[in-house]
Amino acid sequence: MHPHMPPPTLPTDPVQIDALIIGGGIAGCWTLDRLTRAGRSAVLIEKTALGSGQTIWSQGILHSGLKYTLAGSFNKSARAIREMPAVWRACLAGESDPDLSPVALRSEHCHLWRTDSLSSRAAMIGAAAGLVTKPVDLAPTDRPEILRDCPGKVARLDEQVIEPASLIARFLELHHHRIIRADIAQDALLDIPEPGVLRSITIQGVTLAPRTTIITAAAGAPALAEVLHLPAPHSQTRPLRMVLARSASLPPLNAHCVDGMSTRVTITSTQDASGRTIWQIGGEVAEQGALRTDAQTIALARAELAAVLPSLDLSTIEFATYEAPRAESRTKSGKRPESVTLEHCARTIFAWPSKLVLAPQLADDILAALPPSENSSSPDALADALAHLPRSEVAIPPWETASFSR
Ligand SMILES: Cc1cc2nc3c(=O)[nH]c(=O)nc-3n(C[C@H](O)[C@H](O)[C@H](O)COP(=O)(O)OP(=O)(O)OC[C@H]3O[C@@H](n4cnc5c(N)ncnc54)[C@H](O)[C@@H]3O)c2cc1C
Repeated sequence: MHPHMPPPTLPTDPVQIDALIIGGGIAGCWTLDRLTRAGRSAVLIEKTALGSGQTIWSQGILHSGLKYTLAGSFNKSARAIREMPAVWRACLAGESDPDLSPVALRSEHCHLWRTDSLSSRAAMIGAAAGLVTKPVDLAPTDRPEILRDCPGKVARLDEQVIEPASLIARFLELHHHRIIRADIAQDALLDIPEPGVLRSITIQGVTLAPRTTIITAAAGAPALAEVLHLPAPHSQTRPLRMVLARSASLPPLNAHCVDGMSTRVTITSTQDASGRTIWQIGGEVAEQGALRTDAQTIALARAELAAVLPSLDLSTIEFATYEAPRAESRTKSGKRPESVTLEHCARTIFAWPSKLVLAPQLADDILAALPPSENSSSPDALADALAHLPRSEVAIPPWETASFSR
């Protein structure tokens, strides 16, 4: 043996666990927390960095459902989501588990403004119906400076906005001893006696025997289905090209600009590592950006910002884009799914939250779908077994790596 090679590790007795969760975005992290709090033994395996993919790309808005009522009716999406902001609010205040009080809040609320068209006026009225969180109209003096000159109505909406990297960092802090980094297709020995039944998985000599395998790997789910000898799950990808704006003088803004039945732009704000303000710009611009190049999308974003924020000085702002395809459960229309989805295949569950805000609902549904615990290992025995395995870190936000230009 080479003198610098680590000694080979001998396989241990299988560690019985209730659930192996594969994929460490918000769906996997919240599920790990929920199962553990319910007394289940669970381990999360992440292939790269926690949150890489949709969670780190997301705008962090804890939607109340308003965006989904723009057609004026109270649809299934809005109904699924309306209880969620209160669940998150209690966690973020440290009054309920998981204790998310250390998570960075970008804002306590969002603003909502509209372009001055009749159709968007009608949509705002329809939107207010049936929601737990209702928009509150603001007098011009109470508006954020940058929205003062907007010709239409401006409202405040009590949707909190969180910093996704900080959210994932909090779950890592709470559960670091149950989260490992591995690519199960390459780094693990798998015992799969029949499709969808992962009887055991061995990583660096540690064997885990899960009763249920939960796939929360989003875009990685089809490849994992293949590894587990299953047909591809019912999923779809919706392309998006998000826009980033950066400047030391940009004011923080967390707001939706509504035009008719669609969200023309959704802007959320954060700061980069050098303290500059970053705007993430989504909504219609990002959907149209999916069909355009980087330069065309930036041109579109500039034109949109000039139209909907007339007082914004665009001359000092640098722009970049990033591709952020949504990976979600398939719908007949190809449009966004309305709520969480679980797909059962033998002892495997594919789980799709459809939105970050719905992660608590998804985790509750997964817990309810699990068979009862049987011979599962104690938390201490599990932590000991995993102690020397590689750990995962939190993903880097897109504005830290994007190439900006004027
Ligand atoms: C641009 C954008 C903005 C959004 N804004 C919002 C918003 O403001 N509010 C909201 O509620 N929702 C928002 N969403 C939706 C939300 O981000 C997603 O619904 C949510 O993050 C999905 O979480 P997830 O854990 O299912 O998937 P992901 O976050 O994509 O995580 C999947 C994880 O699985 C890992 N993985 C993949 N393959 C493997 C493998 N083989 N083994 C192990 N791990 C693997 C990946 O590395 C990744 O960490 C937004 C989405 C996008 C794209």
